[in-house]
Amino acid sequence: MRLILLGPPGAGKGTQAQRLVARHGIVQLSTGDMLRAAVAAGTPVGLKAKAIMDRGDLVPDEVMVQIISDRIEQPDCARGFILDGFPRTVAQAEALEALLARKGLKLDGVIELAVDESALLERIEGRAKETAGGARADDNAATLAKRLSVYRTQTAPVAEYYRGKGRLRTVNGMGTVDEVSAAIEKHLRAATEA
Ligand code: ADP
Repeated sequence: MRLILLGPPGAGKGTQAQRLVARHGIVQLSTGDMLRAAVAAGTPVGLKAKAIMDRGDLVPDEVMVQIISDRIEQPDCARGFILDGFPRTVAQAEALEALLARKGLKLDGVIELAVDESALLERIEGRAKETAGGARADDNAATLAKRLSVYRTQTAPVAEYYRGKGRLRTVNGMGTVDEVSAAIEKHLRAATEA
């Protein structure tokens, strides 16, 4: 099974992706995690990405497309994968379409987690406190505001791109973790039976 999870920062994509991993035996491909690993390892991509990520901007499309293209060829992706944090621009979505076609792979679903913005601010501020002084340099109020505005201008159109193709399934992301994952499973059953 190959899925895309869409939704703003703090929508719960990571949490839901982990549930899908456990339930379906597929891998989670979080581009944010991959980039943070590259930063920590000091690779050329990491060195370039760090400042961009810290200010809440997007890493260039061609860098991201290459990372994903290489990653999905790894053997652990053979049973399927969940893209979490990619595609984040319409150009990335178009490139993904082309590269999946080239590799002869089909997408089973695109799921959008819909949440209201005041809840997002609370969730992310909570996460910033939990990881205070540590894990994520981009979990602070200023960068969060920037990430939300980048989401609105650059990533929200990705949902419209898939909606236009009749592929987008929207799930209410404001329920409990269990409610949201039940709604996702329901969509997946519909998508895989269709
Ligand atoms: P969030 O919690 O905001 O969803 P992520 O962990 O997915 O954040 O990503 C953190 C940062 O990594 C982003 O703000 C961006 O700078 C960079 N990034 C992650 N995925 C992509 C992508 N597909 N394209 C461009 N930049 C990305």
